[in-house]
Amino acid sequence: MLYLSTRGYSTKQTFCDILLEGLAPDGGLYLPESYPVVSTLRLEELRHIFHDKGYAALAFEILSLYIDDIPRDDLMQICEKTYTQKIFGNPLVAPLRPLYENIFILALSNGPTLAFKDMAMQLLGNLFEYELARRNQTLNILGATSGDTGSAAEYAMRGKKGVHVFMTSPHGRMSKFQQAQMFSLNEPNIHNIAIEGVFDDCQDLVKQVSNDLGYKRQYNIGTVNSINWARLLAQVVYYFAGYFQATKTSNQKVSFTVPSGNFGNICAGHVARMMGLPIENLIVATNENDVLDEFFRTGIYKARSGKDTFETSSPSMDISKASNFERFIYDLSGRDATLVSQLFADELTKLGQFSLVDHSSFKDAKEKYGFLSGKSLHADRLNTIRNVYQQTGELIDPHTADGIKVATELHHAELPMLVLETALPIKFSKTIHEAVGQEPVCPPAFVALESLPQYVKVLPVDVALLKDYISKSLGSETLQ
Ligand SMILES: *Cc1c(COP(=O)(O)O)cnc(C)c1O
Repeated sequence: MLYLSTRGYSTKQTFCDILLEGLAPDGGLYLPESYPVVSTLRLEELRHIFHDKGYAALAFEILSLYIDDIPRDDLMQICEKTYTQKIFGNPLVAPLRPLYENIFILALSNGPTLAFKDMAMQLLGNLFEYELARRNQTLNILGATSGDTGSAAEYAMRGKKGVHVFMTSPHGRMSKFQQAQMFSLNEPNIHNIAIEGVFDDCQDLVKQVSNDLGYKRQYNIGTVNSINWARLLAQVVYYFAGYFQATKTSNQKVSFTVPSGNFGNICAGHVARMMGLPIENLIVATNENDVLDEFFRTGIYKARSGKDTFETSSPSMDISKASNFERFIYDLSGRDATLVSQLFADELTKLGQFSLVDHSSFKDAKEKYGFLSGKSLHADRLNTIRNVYQQTGELIDPHTADGIKVATELHHAELPMLVLETALPIKFSKTIHEAVGQEPVCPPAFVALESLPQYVKVLPVDVALLKDYISKSLGSETLQ
C-alpha cells in the first residue's frame, strides 16, 4: 500500500515513511492510493474475529490492510500491547451501550486520559517506539495543547524509548483536572511547559521553533497533530467494532453521529464507509464553532481566525479550521488534486473561504457519501445533559451531549444510531454542575490526582527561552 498527497506531490510513500511525518512536502495530507474494500463475507469473518478474539485482533486485521512495511507478527504484537483491558478499562475496549430506543453510545473514553484521543494515541506511541528503534533515530515531539491532545500524547509517549515530549499549554487556563492529569506525570521524557499567554501564543511558539529548520533538524523536532494518518487509521477500527455490536448480520445498516472539531474522528468513519462498512449516514455535530455544519448545509467553507473562534463549554471542538477536512474534499472532488490545491492552497489562504456551491460534486456529500450535519449550542448542551440524566440516570460529557442533541434530531427511527462518546464528564465537571447541580463521581483511579505533586516549567512567551529549555533538557540527558 502506498500513500499519496491530496495536493498531488509526485512521490508516493510507504506507511512507515509517513508515520513520523506531518504534512506532505507540498502541504497536502496523506491518503492511501485506494481504500481496500471489505466484502460482506469478509465482514462476517471480521465480526467473528472481534467476538472471539477481541478488539486487538480486529485492529490487526484492519491495520494490516494499510500497513505492509511492518512484519505481521510485529504488528500483531503492537496491537495486542495497545488494546488491552488494563489500558482501556473494559474487555471490549470500545463497548456499546443503549441510551434511548435505537440510539446507542459507543464508549471510547475509558483510556488513560478519559477522552477518545487515547484510542489512536496509545497505538501511535507504540508505533513510534517500534519504528524509531528500527531506524536508530530519536524524536522530540513539540506541541501546544489546551487540554485533551496534550495529555493523550503524554500518556501515550511516557517512558517510550527514543521519544521526548515538550508540551506547551496556556498557564492557568486548562481545567484543574486536565492540569493535574498532565503535570502530575513525573517521567524523564515528558516535559510540561506552561506559557504565560493564551493557547494561540503556545501555537505560535511551536510554529516559530519548527520554522527554524536548523534547530528543528539538530534536535529532531516533530509533532503528533491530528493530521497524522496513523492516528486516523487507528480510529477506523472502532467504527467496525461499534457496527458489530449494533448489528447481528452484515447487511444491516447503521448511522454514526460524531462530535467534531478537526474532522479527524468523522473522517475515520468516512474511511470505514469507503471500505464497505454498511453506514447509512455520517452525521457531523458541531458546537457554536459551526464551520463544518455551515459547509454541509450550504457548500461554503468559511474558516475562521483564532480570534473569531468562540470559547465554548465543549472546548475540544473549538476549532476555526478543520485540519483533516482536506482529506474528505479530496475524495468528494473525485480525487482531483488540482482542485484541492486551488481550494486549500489558494482560495482558503487568500480569501479565508471557498465554495463548492456550483461544483457538481457538492450534492454527493449527502447522496453518495452519506454526510449530514447539525449544531448544538450552550443551552442545548445543558438541556441534553439534564434530560439524559433525568431519563436514564447517566451523566454524559458536554461534547458527547452535542452529539446526542444532533443525533436525536436527525435520527431515522428504524436504523441504529451510534453516538461516539468523546470524553467522560469528570473532565468537565463545571459544565456538568451547571446542568444538573452536582458534579460527576470521579473514577476511583483518579480521586487522588489533584493532590499529587505537579511538575511544570513556567515560561514567558519567548521563543529563545523555549528553545533554550528544550536544548538544556535534552543536553542534560545525553550527559547522564
Ligand atoms: C478532539 C476532541 C473532539 C474533536 O475530534 P476531531 O477528531 O478533532 O473532530 C471532540 N471531543 C473531544 C472530547 C475531543 O477531545
